[in-house]
Amino acid sequence: MATKYQFDCVENVTPDLFQSGFLITDENRCIIYANSYFADEFNLLTEELLGTSSDGLFTHSSRIFCESYLMPLLVHEGNCEEMQLALIDGDGDRVSIIVSARMDRKKRIYWSFFNASKRDQLYNELIETRKELEAQTKVLQSLSSTDELTGLTNRREFNLRAPQLIKQAKRYGYSFALFIIDIDHFKNINDTFGHLEGDRVLKELGSQLKSFGRETDLVARFGGEEFILLLPNINIEDAKFQALRLHSLISRIQVNQIPVTVSIGGMLSDGSQNLRDTTSKADDALYRAKNSGRNKTVFY
Ligand code: GH3
Ligand code: MG
Ligand code: MG
Repeated sequence: MATKYQFDCVENVTPDLFQSGFLITDENRCIIYANSYFADEFNLLTEELLGTSSDGLFTHSSRIFCESYLMPLLVHEGNCEEMQLALIDGDGDRVSIIVSARMDRKKRIYWSFFNASKRDQLYNELIETRKELEAQTKVLQSLSSTDELTGLTNRREFNLRAPQLIKQAKRYGYSFALFIIDIDHFKNINDTFGHLEGDRVLKELGSQLKSFGRETDLVARFGGEEFILLLPNINIEDAKFQALRLHSLISRIQVNQIPVTVSIGGMLSDGSQNLRDTTSKADDALYRAKNSGRNKTVFY
């Protein structure tokens, strides 16, 4: 009675409107049924499928997978679920598919196939999007830590990195030098030769400083026409020598054939004071350099 009732319900229904591909193969894996979705989705003709081996549908590697894993699983468990395989469609193109299958006692296999290429495409697009976001993040990180005009580390990044170097100096028992460099009468350069000429001087000073020190040195544009240098692992004699080198390098930059000069406030520290106290002392020294005639370095 129940069977009759179920039959009544589906009597006027076209059985072949399933939205996924179905195949039935016999005990020799010959296709004895293919629904129209399967044929349409993979550009194959039902008449040509019938009587052929289901093995012929798959790519070489999927065939190996079927033979070594899927078939033994079907024989032992009676079913397998959501295997990712690939078949060759009627146009000869490789298509990713998800296969589930069941085997009955007569070794007939009932296959269902889902086209997974859209899912693969989505997955690939997600990977692409992730790569793009990572690249953008790198650009943003670099922009947020770099001074646009000179390409040097900016003040924000300096303030993040310098404390690490100061801690290292303290831990390993060496001194470091901090220099604050301020261009002398820079306002005059701007006022007399224009802002663009001022910018050129800042850029040149930036590239001099980039090539000035060791890899472990930290060089940054601290603001306007002020630059800051942290040289780890140095004693006072070397620090004085490096200050002289700085004056000499920077004097190569000329405005209207007159060398640019800077005043430098220097501070040698063993790392026992924090960044703020150290820069504040270097700033005091800079103030004294300015007030005692400029174009010189004064150490705190
Ligand atoms: P001192 O010798 O005492 O340091 O005098 P100064 O003229 O160098 O110092 P002051 O602080 O009076 O002037 C600094 C000038 O730097 C003022 C400001 O307009 C200029 N400046 C700051 N940032 C930039 C920039 O990015 N480009 C240019 N061209 N000028 C800048
Ligand atoms: Mg200044
Ligand atoms: Mg200045």
